[in-house]
Amino acid sequence: LKLLDGRTAVISGAASPRGIGLATARLFARHGARVAILDLDETAARAAAAGIGEAHLGIGCDVTDQAACDRAAGAVLAAFGKIDILINNAGITQPLKFGEIGPDDWQRVIDVNLKGIFCLSRSIVPHMRKRRSGAIACMSSVSAQRGGGVFGGPHYTAAKAGVLGLAKAMARELGPDGIRVNCVTPGLIDTDITQGKLSDEMKQKIIEGIPLGRLGSAEDVAGIYLFLASDLSAYVTGAVIDVNGGMLIH
Ligand code: NAD
Repeated sequence: LKLLDGRTAVISGAASPRGIGLATARLFARHGARVAILDLDETAARAAAAGIGEAHLGIGCDVTDQAACDRAAGAVLAAFGKIDILINNAGITQPLKFGEIGPDDWQRVIDVNLKGIFCLSRSIVPHMRKRRSGAIACMSSVSAQRGGGVFGGPHYTAAKAGVLGLAKAMARELGPDGIRVNCVTPGLIDTDITQGKLSDEMKQKIIEGIPLGRLGSAEDVAGIYLFLASDLSAYVTGAVIDVNGGMLIH
């Protein structure tokens, strides 16, 4: 069963080898999509795209840079002719306490996690509006729902909570144009975003609070993005889908 046959997708933050973005790119490719991987490092983005097959594209793009997003969108349209799916996945985190967050920490974390979604969407939504069709999924986090306390600090929590508001407002405004906008809120997923700063002890404590008894995998989240990108979710917009092993049941 191929859920994305003939579709094209842009996925931000999809070059890191063990990340959610690349797992999503791989799954989308397996479901028949052509995928454009956008990430900070052009060489890494290209290598990641080549790694999933010939039809795909890797582009260097800092999602906080509107001009870079515009250029990336132009390059994808030149190569693929259309964009059906946008996965706003890029993000960074920092395990800082409230009192440790400096102005630069605040700015960068808000910029990448929240403003980045605004910028990249701004580059692609006009095209989707013209075609009166599009599926957008945005990366939030369980941190947004429970006030942090997992790994990222209050600035990360604020950014990811902002994503929920932005995506819901976009869903409302873009629905009449045939564009769906949804969010995913993962719990703790076993990727390299923690940069070795998550101790085994912290991990164990978190697992004790997870009914399914394990951390999530990148593939666990990719499956939710696939659902939100495909026609299986044709009547779903403005929704927030938890993928957290039961860490937060509400
Ligand atoms: P990751 O570090 O493997 O992937 C993040 C990717 O984003 C990297 O490839 C990085 O280079 C890229 N990136 C960073 N800044 C960028 C920018 N300005 N422009 C373009 N690309 C940029 O981590 P991951 O865990 O796969 O994270 C993916 C998303 O999932 C992030 O938004 C993260 O906040 C979110 N998330 C992760 C977890 C988790 O536990 N791992 C939980 C909830 C949400």
